[in-house]
Amino acid sequence: MAARMATLQSSGTKRPTGARVRGPAPEALPLSPGEVAFLRSFVQGSIMITETRQRLRSRWGMCERHAIGALAAEAAWRHGYLHGPAILYADLMDRAVRSFGARGPALRRQLRYRLRERGPCLICELGFGPQSEGFIAPDVLAAGRDPAYLREFVRSTEPHWADSVCGTCAGDGAVPRCRVHLLEALRAGAAVDLSAQRALVERIGRQMERFSRSFGWEERGTETPADRAALVSAPGWYGGWGALLALARAG
Ligand SMILES: [Zn+2]
Ligand SMILES: [Zn+2]
Repeated sequence: MAARMATLQSSGTKRPTGARVRGPAPEALPLSPGEVAFLRSFVQGSIMITETRQRLRSRWGMCERHAIGALAAEAAWRHGYLHGPAILYADLMDRAVRSFGARGPALRRQLRYRLRERGPCLICELGFGPQSEGFIAPDVLAAGRDPAYLREFVRSTEPHWADSVCGTCAGDGAVPRCRVHLLEALRAGAAVDLSAQRALVERIGRQMERFSRSFGWEERGTETPADRAALVSAPGWYGGWGALLALARAG
């Protein structure tokens, strides 16, 4: 905690001294058997299909519950080997960086257009939700619903993602905004430091790219702890920080 606060205070994000980064109640997880059964087939195959990734990329199409639930399940099933999510979020952050292409007054208009969702969450759209039943081996279900691997990953990288937490999600007035709250602020015509938001997205994008490449043979092991933390910052930026903060603070 002390280390995190030191990081926050040195970050220049104006997070008030002594403020606790809050999150909502952790009811977002665990996922239902139906959701886990679907994710099992999803992470084993279709998430690696270019068309699926392009669909996620073009629509920003996964809700917070399913984005974090999928990350938790994959972390558990693969014992913390997060190659698939690293590729996915490197792709999404690349698009995020490109969304900040315009300069001057045109940037607000461009972001309002480019950061908006163009359709529902892919998994919600298929009808999967908290009540969904599914056929899945009990041990696979139990592992897929166990947030321990993701919680360990989130907690171990916290000194390197604390600076990226959205001030609206955390309720503490810090400068960073997740995509959802940046879009909300732009639509409301609120004042937003867009150069700070651009710097945030570019930093997460660079780190995410390095982390993704570190799974390749030639660059194996080249990632830094900050690069690994991008796999928390990227889903936090993409869909909001509530579930991630709840996970970090739980139990
Ligand atoms: Zn969803
Ligand atoms: Zn937010």
